[in-house]
Amino acid sequence: MILLVHIIFGVAVASLVESPYFAIVLALLSHYFLDLFPHIEYPIDNLKNIQKKFKKALPELFYLFVDVILGILSIFVFTDKSLIFFLCAFVSIIPDSLTVLSAIMPNKLLKLHDLFHRKHIHFLRDKKISNFYRISIQIVTVIISFMILK
Ligand SMILES: [Zn+2]
Repeated sequence: MILLVHIIFGVAVASLVESPYFAIVLALLSHYFLDLFPHIEYPIDNLKNIQKKFKKALPELFYLFVDVILGILSIFVFTDKSLIFFLCAFVSIIPDSLTVLSAIMPNKLLKLHDLFHRKHIHFLRDKKISNFYRISIQIVTVIISFMILK
């Protein structure tokens, strides 16, 4: 899923609990939970080769930047702006950050996470499911998140 959806949902589920520690764990788990659903993502293939093809990776970097900025803006609009929500936003996109990091600086641990994240969690990625459904699920997730945060 796109980072914006992960951030908004991560912050929303975190807002449901009192304990900041539990909130952080929930924000992290929310990432894997959302990725279980079939979804569409923008490409990050050039980002994985950013060291060699920096210029080609710029549009992808821009999408990520806009995504994160919109996520942070949502925290300002929909929460009391507590530090915990910003932490949860950060934690909610760690799995995707680790996947990009794994492509840039491969090592055994990151590869293991990558296998879990991309093969097991994203098990519906290559199934024949319409883009309408793949986009709708993200819109519904954002609506549910805003209802939780309201
Ligand atoms: Zn992910």
